[in-house]
This record gives sequence, structure tokens and C-alpha cells, in this order.
Amino acid sequence: MSHPHPELQKPPALPQNGLRVIGLGGLGEIGRNMTVFEHNGSLLIVDCGVLFPEEHQPGVDVILPDFSSIRDRLDKVVALVLTHGHEDHIGGVPYLLKERPDIPVVGSRLTLALIEAKLKEHRIRPKLVEVKEGDRSKFGPFDCEFLAVNHSIPDGLAVGIRTGAGLVLHTGDFKMDQFPLDKRITDLRGFARLGEEGVDLFLTDSTNAEVPGFTTSEKDLSPAIDQVFRTAPRRIIVSSFASHVHRIQQVLDAAAEHKRKVAFVGRSMVRNMGIAEQLGYLNVPQGLVVPLDQLERLPANKVALVCTGSQGEPMAALSRMAARDHKIRIGKGDTVLMASSVIPGNENAISGVINGLTRWGANVVHKGNAKVHVSGHASAGELVYCYNLVQPKNVMPVHGEWRHLQANADLAISTGIDPARVVIAEDGVVVDLVKGKVKITGKVPAGNIYVDAQTVGGVTESILKDRRTLAEEGVVTVLAIVDADTGKLADPPDFLVRGFVHQENDFDKAIPVIERTLAHAAKEGIGDTLQLEQLLSRDISRWAHKTFRRSPLIIPIVIDA
Ligand SMILES: [Zn+2]
Ligand SMILES: [Zn+2]
Repeated sequence: MSHPHPELQKPPALPQNGLRVIGLGGLGEIGRNMTVFEHNGSLLIVDCGVLFPEEHQPGVDVILPDFSSIRDRLDKVVALVLTHGHEDHIGGVPYLLKERPDIPVVGSRLTLALIEAKLKEHRIRPKLVEVKEGDRSKFGPFDCEFLAVNHSIPDGLAVGIRTGAGLVLHTGDFKMDQFPLDKRITDLRGFARLGEEGVDLFLTDSTNAEVPGFTTSEKDLSPAIDQVFRTAPRRIIVSSFASHVHRIQQVLDAAAEHKRKVAFVGRSMVRNMGIAEQLGYLNVPQGLVVPLDQLERLPANKVALVCTGSQGEPMAALSRMAARDHKIRIGKGDTVLMASSVIPGNENAISGVINGLTRWGANVVHKGNAKVHVSGHASAGELVYCYNLVQPKNVMPVHGEWRHLQANADLAISTGIDPARVVIAEDGVVVDLVKGKVKITGKVPAGNIYVDAQTVGGVTESILKDRRTLAEEGVVTVLAIVDADTGKLADPPDFLVRGFVHQENDFDKAIPVIERTLAHAAKEGIGDTLQLEQLLSRDISRWAHKTFRRSPLIIPIVIDA
């Protein structure tokens, strides 16, 4: 198996009729999925998602893929294909379209409705191209065929891409639920048909590659959901992803059966369910769903609320209820049903929400104590099934951290695929398909692009490092008035300390360090205040570390006397 090497360089030019594949996101991480295909001078992009920040990335709203390697060729992009409407596949689209608004955005009806609503908030009117399973459409040299896949949002598509370099099959996110609510199963017949034709490169969802066996069917959740609706003494509050139409359909069905009225809570939930109902993906029995204020007038045992916040997101409805920062007051006898997965990294936040809700007296039913969630991704058994069905010539696992990509690669190899034709590539690694064989040929920039409120890319790794230092070590500002001619302190320096434990005169001992640095600088002829500040920062930091065994952020301010 070929492994990318850290010394990978800028790739050589792609040979005529070759196909270049670069994952700008989603390879080596769960989120911000984006794959760029290049063939004979044209580019096709599949998905453009966001990644949600972790605790070591304070103040970051979302993380985007790095567009820098294609920025000067955006005019060569023939289409942006969206496999489905999850944030980790569409969340970055507004930012890409800000750079070139008329890129044709291709997707299924529900996916396009969701992205259109999102783009409206960014005041972008996209050029939309609706496709459905079974369709075949050409975008530049890319002849695309769309196949139905089953996932935790309706209307997902896999995409077959025919080019002069061969046939690629990209599954997007998928699983093989044989009894989905909408009866729209993954098109295994289509997968097999493409396999017969000869799939030269198979890109498959690695998220659950480590999970043995087969992912359980959505319909197997019905008993647990029904149990909640049968036994809850007072209100039921259900939290779920605002895109999980089928899970919410199950909740609506249970509510109808047990004669409870339902209200949707939270902007994205209200918006998405409105879209899903309008387009016929969500079946809402007459009179079942009512506005929240109307629901509040009904007896507690006659109501259910459906809200967001299943991942402990601080601003979402459920987290705010847990923190008593929401007009819905959780009380004794309320039942909270958290009908969703735990995205890695969110464990602490979710646990905090469960604790908060429990403290107010709620009975919280979650993945850990009831069967209220199944994954949206294919497990190892399904992946092996697909490899045997498709029998691809080359394989490139996508969507996952390294361990997931590796597990998926191992599954491919276990079905007899030549290990030399299975590539594990991280973000930015260039994979070329030339004359039917894949090869890693280089690397392009694929860093984290941080969105922080109104700024995109303004927050850098070094700013994040400062934020972490501020949070963990505190800050010491040193105000030094310096005589430029002599390099001597005109007055004793002032120390302003925040978030750092110290005694009254601790910093007096830093004065000789400052004097020495200034004297040394004067001897070298350094009088520029910015340079002096840099030298002082370095030397005071060293002194602080030696003295306190801590590393507060040191901010020297040098003023000319
Ligand atoms: Zn998904
Ligand atoms: Zn995904």
C-alpha cells in the first residue's frame, strides 16, 4: 500500500488524459468533505463542507477547506456536485460561491432546497442544476451518473464519473439500510452495473469502517421511540439533527399515534422541516404540528417538542434549556429523547447537557441507555459487500480520520484488491489515475481555514496558539519607557497581570532581565521599538518560564522616553 510522505512536493503536470484527484477536506478528519477532480484542464468538485472546531480551537465558528490550490483556476470548475445536504458536505458552499458565484451547483431536489435556503442567508443566488438517481449529465469532460444512496438524510446520491481516464465511483456518505422509511435503498444494482463496466477508482465512505457487521435499520428504533411516547408522564422533548428527516418522521408518527401535538423549536429545525414537508420528504398529518405558543397551552402529557442541540452545541435549543437560558423550562417529569449520535469531540459537551437536564428533573433517554440511534454510515460488512460487488481496480478511502481510512483500505485489500492499488491520502495529497493505475504524485496546500464571526482565514494557527496560552497561562503586559539614546529605562516598568497567579513583587525580579536586554540591544544599535518589544518578549518569557514554570503570554509595550 502506498503511503503519503511528509516530503511530498508540488506535483508534476498531469499527463494528457490522466485524472487527478485531490481531497481538500475529509481525509484525515471527519468533516469539511471536498474532492477536486481534474481532467484535461477542467475541474469537477464533489462536495464542499465545513468542519466543526474542537476545544483547542477557541473562538472558531467553523473550519473550511483550503481553496488556495484551485483559487486561480476557479474559472475551470465545470460543476460542484453535492452528494447530500449535511453541513460537512454543503456548509462551505457559500464561501466557495463568494469567490465565483456562477459555479453550477448540482444535486438532488432536497439537497438543492437546503443549500438554496442557506445561500439566501448569505445573499447568494446560485445557479442550480437538479438531478435525480438514474440521471446522466455531462459537465465539461466529466460524464456524471447519479445513483441513489441511503443515508441519515433523504435524497443522497453517489456519483459515477466517466472521463477519458476511466470510470470513478464516489459513494458520498452512505449505508445499506434494506428497510428505509422512504423505501429508497442504496442502488446496489447500479453499483454492480458500473462494476461490470469496470470501475477504475472507487472512493468509499470510511466513517464506520472500524465497526464490524452491518449498520442496523432505522426501523429498529421504532420500539424505543414508541416506549418513550407510551410511558412519558409529562412533556417529551426530542433533540435530533435538523436534517434527519426520517428520524423526525418516526417521532411525528409516534406522536400521532399517542395523541400528542408537536412543535418544532430552533431556527434550522423549523426551516428544514418546512422545506422537507413542502417537498414531500416529511409527511405531517393534518393538525399534528402546531406553533410553539399554541403548544404551551396544552396539558403537558399531550405535547412533544422537536429541537436541535443533540451535539451539545452551546447556542442550540437543548443546550440552552439545560442551562436555563431558554423559554422552555425543563422540569420534573419531562422526558428528553436525544435521538442522535455523538460526533467525536462532542462527548464532554453532550455529557454537560445531559447533566444539566437531569438536574432540572428530566428523564434523559439517549444512545447510552436506549436504542434511540443508528448510524448513517456503512459498517465494515457493507463496505466489504460493496468491494465484492464493484470489484474496483483502484481504491481511495474517503471521509475519515487516518484510522478510519486505514480500516477501510484493509477491508478493500481483504477482498483481494492489490494493496499497491489502494491509496491512503490525507488532505492535499495528489492522487493521479493514469493508464488505469493510481499513484500519489505530490501535495498541495490544504490547511485549516478558520471562520471567526465575519472573518474568513484571518484567524491563523499562531492566533489560536495565543488564545490557548491566554486561556491556560494568562497574560502579562510589560510597559517600559525607554530612553532611545542610552537604552536605559526612564522609569521602573509597569506589569499588568491577568489570569496568572503571582505575588505582589514577583515581577520586580524581571527588571534586571529587562535592563540587560535593553543594554544589549543598545550596544547592537537596535532602537526600533517593535524590535525591542520582540527581544523583551523572548527574554521575559524565558525568565517567566524559569522562575514560575509557567508560560503566560508576555506583551511588552516599549515607549520612547
Ligand atoms: Zn452525511
Ligand atoms: Zn459526511
